[in-house]
Amino acid sequence: MKENTGKVLTGDRPTGKLHLGHFVGSIQNRLKLQQEEGGIFYMVADVQALTDNAASPEKVRDAVFEVALDNLACGMDPNETTMFIQSQVPEIAELTMFFLNLVTVSRLKQNPTVKTEIKQKGFGENVPAGFLAYPVSQAADILAFKASRVPVGEDQLPVLEQTNEIVESFNRLYGKTFERVTPLLSTHPRMPGIDGKAKMSKSLGNAIFLADSPKEVEQKVMQMYTDPKHIHASDAGKVEGNVVFAYLDVFDPNQKELAELKKQYKKGGLGDVVLKKRLSGVLNDFLDPIRLRRENLASDPKKVMDILNEGTREARKTAKQTMDEVRERMKINYF
Ligand code: ATP
Ligand code: MG
Repeated sequence: MKENTGKVLTGDRPTGKLHLGHFVGSIQNRLKLQQEEGGIFYMVADVQALTDNAASPEKVRDAVFEVALDNLACGMDPNETTMFIQSQVPEIAELTMFFLNLVTVSRLKQNPTVKTEIKQKGFGENVPAGFLAYPVSQAADILAFKASRVPVGEDQLPVLEQTNEIVESFNRLYGKTFERVTPLLSTHPRMPGIDGKAKMSKSLGNAIFLADSPKEVEQKVMQMYTDPKHIHASDAGKVEGNVVFAYLDVFDPNQKELAELKKQYKKGGLGDVVLKKRLSGVLNDFLDPIRLRRENLASDPKKVMDILNEGTREARKTAKQTMDEVRERMKINYF
């Protein structure tokens, strides 16, 4: 394993398998960074997943394995990327406690990401305190590794803004310790769900998963939101906001032909079913090799857990160093 310089941290919440939005929104960026520079940290954020899934520990535990599988199947290489489990690095929880003192409850309630998610999950005033504070724990995830670049989807930008406020406060109160963080957005930072209403998300029932079978992909593509006013093939249709085109834009290898199809769709004379069949084919071609590698890896669960175990041990070394420094700065290094 290359020595990890701790410049990049990225992660997934183990709340389910990963989907196409993840692939274009974050995994692709991770793989690029892995190839260009290596030495990145990848975290399975089980502590964060439990903030809104406290009653479903089994679901979270199973998903830890699944999200690790998804990343490995897409090309994450444990020799280049330190893959670890958040809960097994208790230094992160310790750092979270200290960061909580630097943030106000009203600021957390105003965080646009948290606000949207509270609404989506129907928490209202009964939002778990841990969920409300997850941006603080996310700041600790990043800063425990002194990471300064974070590949994320668009929904995470306000959370990273909050991290930077914590960086400023900490440095002001205790002396310069942390660097500001920079989000690394992909070219498609917000892929829509098949419902066309919200971003594709594991928790919203609107996702095409990397592990879906060819049949499931076909069925979900058939349900995709297009243009509600495009009823007959002969009707003129809208391309903007049309989920089928959003995915063809990203995945169709023949962009020239796609441009022609768009023209035809706008003019009228092209049915949704033709386009949906094209998209199913494109997606299944893309997913085939990922599914195959995923199945192979899944047949040896111990190997996957060993990778996470070794990565966690490695990650903890870095987090411990950071905490030694933090305790000194905060004058709580008594013994
Ligand atoms: P949950 O519903 O449990 O929050 P999620 O689908 O939002 O799950 P996360 O694990 O929260 O997935 O996100 C992992 C990473 O993927 C984050 O960087 C996030 O910004 C990015 N991401 C998630 N959904 C999308 C999407 N639809 N398009 C682009 N990026 C996304
Ligand atoms: Mg999310």
